[in-house]
Amino acid sequence: MGLIPESVIDDILLKADIESVVGRYVSLRRKGSNMWGLCPFHHEKTPSFSVNPSKGIYKCFGCNKGGNAINFIMEMEHLSYPEAIRYLGGIYGVDIPDTRDDKGGDAGREKRERVKALLTEAAKFYYHQFNDENTGVPAREYAKKRALDKQTLDHFGIGYSPASWEATRDYLSGKGYTEEEMLDSGIFKKSEKTGKIFDLFRGRLMFPIFDSFGNIIAFGGRSLGSEMPKYINSPDSLVYNKQNHLYALNFAKKEQSKQLIVVEGYMDAIAMHKAGFRNTVAALGTSFTDSQLKLCARYCEEVVFFFDADGAGQKAAIRAIKMMLAYLTKLSGIKIRIKIAKVPDGKDPDEFIRVNGAEKFAEVVKNALYVEDYLLDRAYNDNYDDKGIDKGRYQDDICLYGSWIPDEIKRSTMANEAAKVLGANPAAVLNRMNSLAENEGQRESLMQAREIARQKENDLKSRNTAPDEDIPEPADNDAPPEEAPEQDNIYAVVDTASDDELKLFAYAISLGPVLADQKKIAIEDVLRPDDFSGDSMKALVKSFLSVFDAKRGVSFARMSDFFRRVTINGAAAEDVMYRECTRADQAEDVTVKKDYYLGYLYKIRISRVNEIEESLISRRMYASSQEERDAIDKKLSSLCDYKVKMRNKLEEL
Ligand SMILES: [Zn+2]
Repeated sequence: MGLIPESVIDDILLKADIESVVGRYVSLRRKGSNMWGLCPFHHEKTPSFSVNPSKGIYKCFGCNKGGNAINFIMEMEHLSYPEAIRYLGGIYGVDIPDTRDDKGGDAGREKRERVKALLTEAAKFYYHQFNDENTGVPAREYAKKRALDKQTLDHFGIGYSPASWEATRDYLSGKGYTEEEMLDSGIFKKSEKTGKIFDLFRGRLMFPIFDSFGNIIAFGGRSLGSEMPKYINSPDSLVYNKQNHLYALNFAKKEQSKQLIVVEGYMDAIAMHKAGFRNTVAALGTSFTDSQLKLCARYCEEVVFFFDADGAGQKAAIRAIKMMLAYLTKLSGIKIRIKIAKVPDGKDPDEFIRVNGAEKFAEVVKNALYVEDYLLDRAYNDNYDDKGIDKGRYQDDICLYGSWIPDEIKRSTMANEAAKVLGANPAAVLNRMNSLAENEGQRESLMQAREIARQKENDLKSRNTAPDEDIPEPADNDAPPEEAPEQDNIYAVVDTASDDELKLFAYAISLGPVLADQKKIAIEDVLRPDDFSGDSMKALVKSFLSVFDAKRGVSFARMSDFFRRVTINGAAAEDVMYRECTRADQAEDVTVKKDYYLGYLYKIRISRVNEIEESLISRRMYASSQEERDAIDKKLSSLCDYKVKMRNKLEEL
């Protein structure tokens, strides 16, 4: 994307109304606010395929496919995103600037090729720095400590970025690359203070990230010592979208193994390759995505996952499993077996191989559990303590897990096993699983209730055991600011959103152009990414604001492109927001909608202020000087004013 201007996409979605786009393929009948027909994507006799003209989207309740007019054409005509836009542009008379790949003068393609060449040049530079007699010393010492031999280092093209703000920049500009090309590559940043660009990676061990054909498209950089963050990754760029790639897939696919092993970080993947498990890949700085699963399915029949043994890793495992099973249910055409492996003693694969050797590790891979068996184990172990099994919770967990399993036979086997633990009738357990499987709403609320309960317990535990910690002051120095780095933890994206946050966002969409009307909504009352606490919501709000049109607002259909990229509370964002927006749309009167919107906004801002206040108050207790205390008091008093203002606004509604 990116090459076709946002305004053109807006125009397409406005003109190519979903009703007529779908109507070319499916005969639709109106029932309530939706139109219904037989799904073109799966075989059925009674209509479960719906079109919502006011939101501009379609959704099949049978196979779960859904999206906007562009997505429909992509699916129907097997086209890429830009191709589908062009296709619709032709039918509905929207001119689309020519950025096509098949012409000699293709600016977009040329640009991408230049950026890829730049990245390859950068990799060479890093490689030479690593091997440079003087500059490379710290990097080579670190590599030695991690037992990376010359052959492995060369195989993965590992290099070193010197501890300098401009070494890479100067080298590449000497090679004739422009500032724009450097920024497009994602490995440079522009300083807001000086307007100059500077190296993103400094003093780090550099891992080139390849696409599946072996082109360098990004980098990961690991700190050599204890500096934080441990890992920095290239952000998404003109040539890189981390959701669509897997580290080391270019090597792993050559094995032509029927199995792929998925680990967490580059180092794990490299250690596995070195130990002979060359069918290993690593996810790239994000939670494992459905496009990555699809990518795996292209090359193998079975995926074996290694998740971290700690609490976060285990929680992530459940989330990833839920996403994958939902995806497999949706696309019944993809046949892939999912297994979950566990390294004994909570070690990571790299560590385990170093201590126990490759043969022992082969056993660990062999002992990986099918996802159904893993879930049975999890439900049991998570709810078992010295008092025995907590049957109530076990039942909640296992019925929830069972409801995710697409295969009926496997689901009923699971129900049988669970019935033994519960001392219940297997048919009753299966019934409960089936009814949860059919009722998404019920399933979500069970999942949420369960997570909230666990969260509370964890909070209580950590409150009782963790020492009081001071909140670190952000370091102030003159160096160019480093952007918040991507974390190496592949499950780092926080996708939680509170009820109020969901409602606020739904009303913002539902309000349409009113949100831009400053006579109705003051500029400071327009929602901001910072009003939200989770990464997914922040990203959605950013996208929302970036495509906001003062005349039309933002349509649900337009947002649907962004919804596809994130999850919210572990569920597909599109589904969650569909539910919320449908509720928000029920308030037909704009004034009522506006009041709801403002009500949620003020409430959220007040609770945000409360959080900041709490942390300031605890910081005040540990302040070392009167000066510091005074500064905190000043902040507190201005926060207090702000809160009063919000409260007054809330009361005035
Ligand atoms: Zn369908």
